[in-house]
Amino acid sequence: MTSQISTNGASTNGAAPQIENVVIIGSGPSGFTAGLYAARANLNPILITGNDYGGQVSITYEVENYPGFPESVTGPELVEKMKTQAEKFGCRVEFDYVTNIATDKHPFVISTQNGKEYVAKSVILCTGARPRYLEIPGEKEYTGKGVSYCATCDGFFFRGKDVVVVGGGDSAVEEGLFLTKYATRVRIIHRRDELRASKILQERAFKNEKVEFVWNTVLTEVLGDADGKVIGAKVQNTVTGEESEIETDGVFIFVGHLPNNELLKDKFELDEDGHLIADRFMRTNVPGIMAAGEIMDKVFKQVATSVGQGCSAAMQTNKFLEELEEAGYPGVDQDPREFRKAEIANKEAIGTW
Ligand code: NAP
Repeated sequence: MTSQISTNGASTNGAAPQIENVVIIGSGPSGFTAGLYAARANLNPILITGNDYGGQVSITYEVENYPGFPESVTGPELVEKMKTQAEKFGCRVEFDYVTNIATDKHPFVISTQNGKEYVAKSVILCTGARPRYLEIPGEKEYTGKGVSYCATCDGFFFRGKDVVVVGGGDSAVEEGLFLTKYATRVRIIHRRDELRASKILQERAFKNEKVEFVWNTVLTEVLGDADGKVIGAKVQNTVTGEESEIETDGVFIFVGHLPNNELLKDKFELDEDGHLIADRFMRTNVPGIMAAGEIMDKVFKQVATSVGQGCSAAMQTNKFLEELEEAGYPGVDQDPREFRKAEIANKEAIGTW
């Protein structure tokens, strides 16, 4: 560690890079909450948005279950409010995409698509998740031509048309209901005979005259016409194995999500589904790097839980930075990546400090 670098992140020598206290990667609810808390802790954070600004909530038409908004709020509006609040306290927001995080030495080096490099004492990973594909013939070919993963974005184009929705979770039912604003009929095709979606959404869907359910059925192919537009789909009954074709103008797919972990492989501990493993203090296996939101949470995946995790990650980051400073950073003998690693590895010790 060069002693030309001061602990407050400023360079004392023109040639030395500025060392950031914390770089937050991702601009969903967990990222902006981490930005807000880190800014209020005087860490002067920098948040790099990624290509999908606002994350998944930004493509959600209506958020009804985020506390404080009894009249509900649109996803994009909520993201803007979170950004404004984080910026108000000094969080710097960069519209850029991280292409690499070098964790083999400390401080960490974060490289971006715009050719920038950030040097940081700590990082909060909030890279979130993206829609899962069905990976059936025609799906890729007709994406944007009738196949969609976002009712808020594309519902308008299906005014007066027939659409199908694939999936049985909250997203499928909620987005299916949203599509009834435009479509004449919305068939929700689910591979079982029971929905995974919450009871309140189920009740709403069962009551809606435009919504029909096609049970025990999977899509096996998306069909299109010579103009490249969706005209239907091949389906198969999961109980009888019977195959048939249905006519429709649009196929909306909501079959879950995959963690955005491309940057993280081979550097961080991931579970069997590719989510980051973080402890209850939001620490990853690399000391100084915390995580929050859907990149590390495959259970709850709510705006409210992501916000809580972003808050915890920022508070833990502040603690890590205080400990670094107490240890005499930048002149510490120990590599900060080894900092308390033994304790982190000893899961039983977690919670005792
Ligand atoms: P999800 O809960 O994982 O549901 C995915 C659905 O897709 C399941 O019904 C699943 O069927 C089905 N599925 C998965 N792979 C399939 C395949 N290859 N072919 C056919 N069907 C397939 O995902 P989600 O609905 O996107 O929700 C994700 C999380 O966000 C959940 O925790 C949910 O509660 C939350 N969320 C909440 C709200 C809200 O509170 N308003 C709104 C949206 C999402 P099986 O049921 O048979 O497994």
